[in-house]
Amino acid sequence: MAFLKLLARNQLALAGLVVMALVVLLALITPLLPLADPNATNTPARFTEPFSDGALLGTDHLGRDLLSRLMWGTRLSLAVGFAAAVIAATIGAAIGIIAGYYGGRTDNVIMRVVDVLMAFPYILLALAIVAALGPGLMNALIAVAAVNIPFFARNIRGITVGIANKEFVDAARLAGLSNTKIILTEILPNVIPVIVIAMSTTIGWMILETAGLSFLGLGSQPPVADLGSMLGEARSALITNPHTSIVPGVMILIIVMAINLLGDGVRDALDPRLKSGALSRPLPATLVDRTRQPGGPADETALLHLSDLQTQFHVGARIFRAVGGVDLRIQPGECLGLIGESGSGKSVTALSIMGLVASPPGKITGGSVFYRGEDLIGAPYEKLRSLRGRRVAYIFQDPLATLHPLYTVGEQLIEAVRSHYNTPKDEARAHAIDLLKSVRIPNAEDRVDNYPHELSGGMRQRVGIAMALANDPDVIIADEPTTALDVTVQAQILTLLDDLRRERDVAILFITHDFGVVAQLCDRVAVMYAGRIVEQGTTDEILSHPAHPYTSRLMACVPELGGGQRRLEAIPGLPPVVDNLPEGCAFADRCNKARDACRQGDIPLDTLGQTRRVRCIDPETEEATA
Ligand code: ADP
Ligand code: MG
Repeated sequence: MAFLKLLARNQLALAGLVVMALVVLLALITPLLPLADPNATNTPARFTEPFSDGALLGTDHLGRDLLSRLMWGTRLSLAVGFAAAVIAATIGAAIGIIAGYYGGRTDNVIMRVVDVLMAFPYILLALAIVAALGPGLMNALIAVAAVNIPFFARNIRGITVGIANKEFVDAARLAGLSNTKIILTEILPNVIPVIVIAMSTTIGWMILETAGLSFLGLGSQPPVADLGSMLGEARSALITNPHTSIVPGVMILIIVMAINLLGDGVRDALDPRLKSGALSRPLPATLVDRTRQPGGPADETALLHLSDLQTQFHVGARIFRAVGGVDLRIQPGECLGLIGESGSGKSVTALSIMGLVASPPGKITGGSVFYRGEDLIGAPYEKLRSLRGRRVAYIFQDPLATLHPLYTVGEQLIEAVRSHYNTPKDEARAHAIDLLKSVRIPNAEDRVDNYPHELSGGMRQRVGIAMALANDPDVIIADEPTTALDVTVQAQILTLLDDLRRERDVAILFITHDFGVVAQLCDRVAVMYAGRIVEQGTTDEILSHPAHPYTSRLMACVPELGGGQRRLEAIPGLPPVVDNLPEGCAFADRCNKARDACRQGDIPLDTLGQTRRVRCIDPETEEATA
């Protein structure tokens, strides 16, 4: 069902589907229709014009009814094309799976044979096969299927090699499954979508190839008609009686076009990577559609000031309010922690700052991001680009995914510098080595020529940090930079970040879901829930006396070393889905202090004491938590 819906979004594919369904239906019911005998000749009535009595599409050079021949011919051409495609796909996929799964010598022998077959132009190969077997529709079918087998074998082998080395296949082996069983239950289900895709995009070709062989007189033999032989027979009357060529020609055009449009649509709809992000590339900067007023005025003392920032995802008819009015201020040299469960909107907030949220489906719908007092939301792309990586730099969670696997870390550091400054190459290289030293990478002169896979996880994240530092930014936005690392490495990275920010006076927006990390590094903390800040204050205050029930529940989930036999209290329920937020407090359904008043109207982010703000009508007081 979901597949049909996706297909229907592609209107050309839908048109292809409708046309193909119609053609196939007509081909299926041809024997039931009151048509003239397609092979009955009537020489006196030869070359009747179309739309004349008794012959809607006219007659051919032997006076045979063209409509009847067209219908029967289409039926035959479709049947042969489909049969060839199914045979080629089955045999080709089987060969590909065996070669890819067993690998080694089996793979080598099979693939060299396939390569030899692929070395011939395939029409020539098909001609040779038919010449050897003798003309006839059955032999044409065999020839067309045979020349397409290598194509499927190559395709499927590639996919199988990728799958055969995956952990779930190893797990199946460890469980004692036989090779046959592994192929049938683990490999095959994973390659079937690829087989279907390859088939849907080649079936049109196979119909054309069969028609081509028939056109040359090597396929269907007289008097039986298929589309190719009809064209072939009409060739001599092309100028005098063009309708005899046009009728089968138009049908071939319609069929091949419809199948190819449909095939493209099927491929797009079946490709899981294309499913969520529609069928387009994201724009270079997030779309801005501020229906609400920009936030303001800017806080002139803050380096970065997010004011009532709102970012949404529009997916079909659903609107996900990932960021629903966030206010944050980061002073120069300060480290602000942004903490919350996964899915609370931390990453989207961070990406919105430099317009990096993928659009479509992302959209900034309100508020402002002031950098040194200047609103960046809606700023021209060139402006954003000049700030990205130069004044505001990012560090992401998984350094292996953010570093390019085919360039050395040195080349990537040099690129980071040279995309903003015209530094000469050797100077940039020296700078890259300095950067590696500054993130405490031993042996930086040698390491600079390493590829990312030659470094350990902690080293790679150090490179990620070096890259963020490359242009001496004012702010570094670190999105869970230590989540992918083990605890000892995590501690080293945190110490490094802390040292660097004191040495270089750079501000950090540190995103995490770990209170332990916040305690080590951050001056202030903002707690995020369902796209909004629910509590904000200095790290000491919040860690010692959380005021929002969510914050205290979140902290109760963290185990403490040496904390005795304290029960870990999981928060019941799940965070709300942000496309359908409840009225009032989004946390009310999971809060044990919730009352009716919590579910009514908007709850403001009130000040509490001097430095603290909390979005709760009944915050926990210091006396209660002390
Ligand atoms: P986290 O706090 O774990 O970093 P995110 O900021 O990545 O959370 O995501 C916040 C919310 O935004 C998620 O709950 C999700 O519903 C929504 N979201 C993120 N990316 C997309 C997307 N491409 N399409 C639709 N919704 C998205
Ligand atoms: Mg995230």
